[in-house]
Amino acid sequence: MQLILLGLPGAGKGTQAALLAERLGLLHISTGDMFRQAAAEGTELGLRAQRYMSAGELVPDELTIAMLLERIRRRDAAAGIMLDGFPRTLPQAEALDRALAELGRAIDAVLYIQVPEALLVARLTGRWGCPSCGAIYHQLTSPPRVAGVCDRCGATLTQRADDQPATVQARLDTNRVWTEALAEFYGAQGKLHAIDGTGEPAAITERLLAAIDGVTSGTGKA
Ligand code: AMP
Repeated sequence: MQLILLGLPGAGKGTQAALLAERLGLLHISTGDMFRQAAAEGTELGLRAQRYMSAGELVPDELTIAMLLERIRRRDAAAGIMLDGFPRTLPQAEALDRALAELGRAIDAVLYIQVPEALLVARLTGRWGCPSCGAIYHQLTSPPRVAGVCDRCGATLTQRADDQPATVQARLDTNRVWTEALAEFYGAQGKLHAIDGTGEPAAITERLLAAIDGVTSGTGKA
């Protein structure tokens, strides 16, 4: 099964993709995580990507597409993929369709997690992470026991450069137009499923699983 999670930054794609990939036995591929890892390793790709990421802009298609296509052609992606944060532009979606067709595969469903924008801003600007062990906190929903300190390992928490308020608005502006274009693109293919992304994460997971069940049992509505 090849699935895409679509949604604006902060819609919960990362959290849900990790859960669903595990439940369904799919490889979770996040282009944002791949870029952050490349940047942390100081590779040429990572350093180039970093400039765009910290400004809240999209990394150019040529870099992003090459990285993603290389990843989905590896053997561990053959059992199925859960894409999170890709595609983010129409050329990316078209390149993905072509590459999957060459592999004799196709996207089965696109799950569009919808959340009102005011809520996205609150979610994104409240997110803090541990640079040491990777734990994620949120000042509204899951604050650390001691402000600014990781519960698990005691390191000082940091905020992603692109979660800082000025950058958050830029990220939303950049992504909004493309997200709508992608929803239209996959809607025309009959693969789009809109999911209410508000409420408890567990409830959102259930809605996503119900939509996927509908697709696999052939009763899915486009
Ligand atoms: P994310 O963790 O998915 O929010 O991605 C973080 C940042 O990585 C984005 O704001 C972009 O700068 C970059 N990025 C991730 N995925 C893509 C993509 N498919 N196309 C272009 N840029 C991307």
